[in-house]
Amino acid sequence: QFAQAFQNLQRCAAASERVFGFLEEPEMSDETDKPALLGRDPKTGKAERVRGDVEFRHVSFGYEPGRPIIHDFSASVKAGQKIAIVGPTGAGKSTMVNLLMRFYDIDGGSMTIDGIDTSTVPRANVHEQFSMVLQDTWVFRGTVKENVAYDKKGVTDKQIEDACKAVGLDHYVRSLPQGYDTVLDDNSSLSQGQRQLLTIARAMVQDAPILILDEATSSVDTRTEELIQKAMDELTVGRTSFVIAHRLSTIRDADMILVMNHGDVVERGTHEELLRRGGFYADLYNSQFTSLVA
Ligand code: ATP
Repeated sequence: QFAQAFQNLQRCAAASERVFGFLEEPEMSDETDKPALLGRDPKTGKAERVRGDVEFRHVSFGYEPGRPIIHDFSASVKAGQKIAIVGPTGAGKSTMVNLLMRFYDIDGGSMTIDGIDTSTVPRANVHEQFSMVLQDTWVFRGTVKENVAYDKKGVTDKQIEDACKAVGLDHYVRSLPQGYDTVLDDNSSLSQGQRQLLTIARAMVQDAPILILDEATSSVDTRTEELIQKAMDELTVGRTSFVIAHRLSTIRDADMILVMNHGDVVERGTHEELLRRGGFYADLYNSQFTSLVA
């Protein structure tokens, strides 16, 4: 147990180093001068919803100078489309998310949301346009209501309940001693699946126009997996979504699949197009399928 705790501690220390490293990074000097245009009326500054068109034009990127991993990537994503990002471990799926959300600046080319170059607006303004549902679910000490509303101001009880109903969590929440006012914390007895559903309800309430979904690979039973998949499908309606997919069976309906390997996009297309091509994706798909039926 002690060895396990020590290992966990080491992992946390490494993770927190990365987080603090990021927080300590100096804001780019020009950030404060940039007008907040994304999702704002340029004249009045009032919040508006972006449509969620995303465009990459000749994007190149590398974590280290002189070592590009993404080469001349262009793609046009229409508002409401579902884009799947697939590839083996270390292929570059998280890198793509990092670039989308401007956690890193690209070395060449441009990225736009609704035609606005994201490098011309403050980073925080870019982040506002996204909701993320990651594998690592996060429950903080607070009521169910507070956990679902998170940092969104003025959320009504009805919106919270509607979101929980939509993801199939309402029944369970009502069975808790204080219902929606029950206090949760990280040690709460919520199952992994329920945590996932709560995170999806949170993203529904945040109502950002663009989503990043990291499909859960953790061991949940088939019924819960179906519930999570259904909730994710519900969440993506009317929103541009980028799905990091681990089970290729869930992305057959994606409008575009970006296949990544060694940090770069090596193929793209719909499921059928990629299967017909008989390349890297087809190999990946067939190997997953074979291992499932084996
Ligand atoms: P996984 O499925 O394991 O999460 P991934 O497909 O998300 O992998 P990335 O994390 O995007 O892959 O990594 C792509 C490449 O970039 C890898 O070669 C990785 O080592 C490298 N890389 C990722 N993050 C950094 C970083 N902060 N600094 C330097 N190199 C990095």
